[in-house]
Amino acid sequence: MLITPALLPEIITTIRQSIADNAEEVTALDQAIGDGDHVINLQRGLRALMAHNEAWAELEWAAAFQKIGMTLMSTVGGASGSLYGTLFISMSKSATGQSLSLVDFAQSFMQGIDAMKQRGKSDTGEKTMLDVLVPVAIQLQTSADNDADLTDLLPALEHVAIAGMESTKYMLATKGRASFLGERSKNHIDAGAKTAQLMISALIDVIKLRLMETS
Ligand code: ADP
Ligand code: MG
Repeated sequence: MLITPALLPEIITTIRQSIADNAEEVTALDQAIGDGDHVINLQRGLRALMAHNEAWAELEWAAAFQKIGMTLMSTVGGASGSLYGTLFISMSKSATGQSLSLVDFAQSFMQGIDAMKQRGKSDTGEKTMLDVLVPVAIQLQTSADNDADLTDLLPALEHVAIAGMESTKYMLATKGRASFLGERSKNHIDAGAKTAQLMISALIDVIKLRLMETS
């Protein structure tokens, strides 16, 4: 199965739907320890990405990631806008061609996650989206290096994303708005970790569906 930018309209649409389906739950999480705008921020970015849906298929990955990054940077706002913008702009620097191998994608994603860490001056254990994204990047790289089959890799990635999201519940927030609450930030899942998990699960669903169609 080839993963090319032609898949992007389906991926973006599925992610947007998943965020919409979970909007109430995520907004409640963000209202508890943030300022409650996280879903609105993300939906603004996803809507802007959908406006390019006719154009993705003609792009190579470097240009597609660049366009995604610039669009998110200029439309999402908040901490998540600059972090996701950084992820994709960084990925655009290493991606080449229209079809990425799993190994190349894993490497590019890991590089993007490292750029996010630098941008956010943050890492795992601080109750953010990185508690989902970092373990996913590590799992992806390990599986790709071991030449894992996509049918084994996808459930493993989903498991790691859900575990990472759940792990934020008892953490003390040390980055972002939630950190202003100190101990009171505990006992709530981080909204950014929840949406990162939802987006990864939606991406996995699209790839699973395509695999079923091509097998
Ligand atoms: P803002 O907090 O600026 O209103 P959003 O509401 O869109 O932005 O996003 C909040 C999410 O961003 C948090 O739930 C957290 O996951 C993530 N986040 C905030 N600051 C950082 C940081 N320094 N590093 C990594 N992630 C962060
Ligand atoms: Mg917010």
